[in-house]
Amino acid sequence: MKNKGLLFILSGPSGAGKGTVVKELVKLPENEVSVSVTTREPREGEIDGVHYHFFTVDKFRKLIDENGFLEYAQYCENYYGTPLAQIEKWLSEAKNVILEIDVQGCRQVKIKRPDAITLFIAPPSMEVLEHRLRKRGTEDEETIQKRLNTAKSEMQKAGEYDYVVINGPIEECVEDVLAIFKAENIKAQNAESINI
Ligand code: 5GP
Repeated sequence: MKNKGLLFILSGPSGAGKGTVVKELVKLPENEVSVSVTTREPREGEIDGVHYHFFTVDKFRKLIDENGFLEYAQYCENYYGTPLAQIEKWLSEAKNVILEIDVQGCRQVKIKRPDAITLFIAPPSMEVLEHRLRKRGTEDEETIQKRLNTAKSEMQKAGEYDYVVINGPIEECVEDVLAIFKAENIKAQNAESINI
């Protein structure tokens, strides 16, 4: 058993299925997901404190001033940020801490925490991504177009990540991510035990 937890970052375009993957990962007691703060409006069915902490822009800025974020970024006109509280506690409990954040956020975390392990969850194709975004039915046409444009530029940054996982059938994607978590845990555990 390791003494310290590992920090995993999951990024990928909106609609790539990160949320579904994370939902499966947190069914295991060793995995914890950080709940981000956002200024965007809740989607139907989203619960404050569960899916996000929904903040006003003023409240978000206040937390920036208090140095309360590990990172934060603007994505499609809304702010998103990872609150610092909780993360350190989970790491000290040797948990796998999962951050589901965008490419800009990932870069910021890597500067502060170079040991973070980064995974890019990619859709099988842009056509599948568009289909998933439309099927979700939670965004209007303008928002879908913005998200598709952002997705194109995000896909070009996949090479910056330690791992790229293609999210075709969800079970396979979850299996691949769990295999990566396992390998990284074995690596960290063995490095600790022989002091490298
Ligand atoms: P959505 O609005 O679809 O929930 O999220 C939009 C994008 O913001 C996604 O790429 C998601 O991963 C990213 N995101 C969610 N939370 C955070 C966060 O705390 N920080 C950053 N940088 N991005 C986030």
